[in-house]
Amino acid sequence: MDRNGKTSGFKFDNVPEDEKPELVKVVFTGVSSRYDLMNDAMSFGAHRLWKSALINWLEPRCERSLLDVAGGTGDIAFRYLEKAPAASVTVLDFTESMIDEGRNRAVKSGLDGQIDWVVGDAMAMPFADQSFDACTMSFGLRNFARIPDALAEAYRVLKLGGRLIILEFSWVPVPVLRRLYDLYSFKVIPLEGQLIANDRDSYQYLVESIRRFPGQEELAALILQAGFQNVSYRNLSFGVAAMHSAWKL
Ligand code: SAM
Repeated sequence: MDRNGKTSGFKFDNVPEDEKPELVKVVFTGVSSRYDLMNDAMSFGAHRLWKSALINWLEPRCERSLLDVAGGTGDIAFRYLEKAPAASVTVLDFTESMIDEGRNRAVKSGLDGQIDWVVGDAMAMPFADQSFDACTMSFGLRNFARIPDALAEAYRVLKLGGRLIILEFSWVPVPVLRRLYDLYSFKVIPLEGQLIANDRDSYQYLVESIRRFPGQEELAALILQAGFQNVSYRNLSFGVAAMHSAWKL
């Protein structure tokens, strides 16, 4: 427990809430150079389809600004700019080496200067109230020590009429599929982490953090509690992942 007696999930253990951010940062610092490769290997490329589904639901427009929270190496930012090349896009992430990977990708694809890369915490965002038209969180929320704080921050920095879309691993409702998915997650993913990223522990963290994360309905309730309205969700790949959409009205 921390000073306030609170704990937060990290792997299957509870760690003091104020220690989780540093532990998470160590994980992503360790995997940043292999992060994109591992995403493809673990999901057989499905993460690309899920991220495209998020972008399609969001319907990017050049006149709408986007904040991608926990944006890592920039997958969502790049996809947004493909559809809305003149849009203003900001990526926020607290792991410098993930941001560095993203910046290098931007330079290579000629998009340097079009994305504002900001190192900072999702639970205390360095932006003024009502700064953005849209906010996305793709596979970020699960890592936060205090999910309600990050949702409250997303609400604060969105303009009135702004939209939040969260993409996260979720809960597979069909028991037989869930058992197969568990088998793959616990037996294969950590092994892939060892072979490709030379880091079994970080991918063990990934699998365990997915299992601890709230299911579709629970997450919808948390988003409502943060003040958002018109909350809805769509399952992807039988609920392996889900997207939640909500509005600040
Ligand atoms: N959004 C990217 C994607 O979909 O590929 C990256 C997702 S990666 C699984 C999770 C990211 O969340 C990491 O880059 C990590 O640094 C970031 N992160 C975790 N906790 C954070 C926090 N409290 N504030 C900002 N970024 C955070």
